[in-house]
Amino acid sequence: VPLVLTHFLDRAVSLYGDKVGVISEEKSLTYRELYERVNQLSHGLSDIGVKKGDRVAYLAPNTLEMLEGFYGVFQTGAIMVPLNIRLKPDDYVFILNHSESKVLFVDAELYHLIAPVKNELQTVEYIIVHSKTDDIDEIAYDTWLAQYTTEPFVRPDIDENDVCSLLYTSGTTGNPKGVMLTHRNNYLHALSTMHHLRVSDRDVYLHILPMFHVNGWGAPFYYTANGATHVCLRKAIPEVIFEYVNKYKVTVMHMAPTVLNTLLQYYEQHVPTIEHDVRVVIAGSAPPPAFVTRVEKELGWEFIQVYGMTESSPLSTVSTVRSHLQHLPLSDQYRMKAKAGYAMIGCEVKVVNEHGEEVPRDGKSIGEVIVRSNGVMAGYWKNPEATMETIRNGWLHTGDMATIDMYGNIDIVDRKKDIIISGGENISSIEVEGVLYEHPAVLEAAVIAVPHEKWGETPHAFVVVRSGKEVTEQELIAFSREKLAHFKAITGVTFVQELPKTASGKIQKVHLRNEYWQSIG
Ligand code: ATP
Ligand code: MG
Repeated sequence: VPLVLTHFLDRAVSLYGDKVGVISEEKSLTYRELYERVNQLSHGLSDIGVKKGDRVAYLAPNTLEMLEGFYGVFQTGAIMVPLNIRLKPDDYVFILNHSESKVLFVDAELYHLIAPVKNELQTVEYIIVHSKTDDIDEIAYDTWLAQYTTEPFVRPDIDENDVCSLLYTSGTTGNPKGVMLTHRNNYLHALSTMHHLRVSDRDVYLHILPMFHVNGWGAPFYYTANGATHVCLRKAIPEVIFEYVNKYKVTVMHMAPTVLNTLLQYYEQHVPTIEHDVRVVIAGSAPPPAFVTRVEKELGWEFIQVYGMTESSPLSTVSTVRSHLQHLPLSDQYRMKAKAGYAMIGCEVKVVNEHGEEVPRDGKSIGEVIVRSNGVMAGYWKNPEATMETIRNGWLHTGDMATIDMYGNIDIVDRKKDIIISGGENISSIEVEGVLYEHPAVLEAAVIAVPHEKWGETPHAFVVVRSGKEVTEQELIAFSREKLAHFKAITGVTFVQELPKTASGKIQKVHLRNEYWQSIG
């Protein structure tokens, strides 16, 4: 059979049709009710001329309308283009024109981002608004959808190698690129992920990570396929997260370390009553080791680190699950979980030097992570040069530097572009940040390379101080010298109110570098 994503919904409907599939804004829907809305959406799309291969864009937070969009679009064979909700109007013009999207679904709360640039959209024929309010002069989703039948939609032939989504990368390092993922990519990635995260029909998944970003993007596949319940969340507010955990008996959540940080902060300040234990918390994007310990010790929830990127659907490695570590002392368990982990099923991961040779598996030698997996993209949309540069001989070159040990456990050192080279030695900005997070006055930290006359470069920290605490630049420098080899210690600190972040919660070091250059004139 072709591995097509609509199977996942079919399975949920036939096995779990009467079970609650989605909870969104206090409403609950069974999987059958979800399926009926999905059918209406596919009939509607087809009625307005959407055909196989056409692009349909979404600009929405985590809502029911966003979730049903996945399967509604896929049933027609069209390609979904989820848009990051934290971009600027001009970025939407770029992506919508670049992807040649025909239809744009937009949440009423975000319509103001589109209104000023509507005339610049060259290919969008329909703008349809979720939760439309009276002041918006566009098609209202609910009334539009209601015209169509809930009967099954007759699907076109879809091949597993057909592209199902164009996901633009986070843009952490520059302009976002349109990553083409196929049905097969997402299908096999989902099979592997559901195994490693032990997903089952007893799971209640809280959508904290945005579905429009690749990290949240996979959840509609692996949780649906297993008949788990989706709980949608418009905004990741710690108070609401704890409330939902109790109210809906959430079992699993994935989040960016920056969001996890706000959650831990809130927990320390307010000590909310937890009536229900979350089975596992999953985070990628370089979570500082201190967070791992705090999640496991303070919240008592299991923590799993994952590593991936948009170009690989996204996950390639997962840190060991608790049962594999049980024989180790706790501190060693936390140390292991603070690494990116092992290649997932369906993924091959290597760490290579600049000649493409594998570095020794000694947990010390550093090289670039390369990945060959079922999740690796078909390429960048309309950018064959970038595709050829990134995928060479079937291997995805991640641009991430890591060590690998004798068991194949990967520890991400840094992005190639973020590594600090001081007196000929490589310094991992992630390692230095990890140490700063151990300081009681540090709420957030990001480390970049700054020029130094003698050493070439040295680490410089941007720090947000916890409210009610104080710390000086000299104290932080001394703290880092105490905890790290001296050449890795920071040589300066810029205190800031907040750090610039992408919508997926990543710290944008490009902006910090600009800020640093401006500050020194
Ligand atoms: P862009 O490619 O547009 O600059 P981006 O690389 O941030 O943005 P994503 O695909 O969202 O876009 O993120 C993937 C990157 O996130 C990885 O290449 C890696 O640098 C980082 N990352 C993900 N997981 C981890 C992890 N567990 N530890 C360290 N870094 C991670
Ligand atoms: Mg990238």
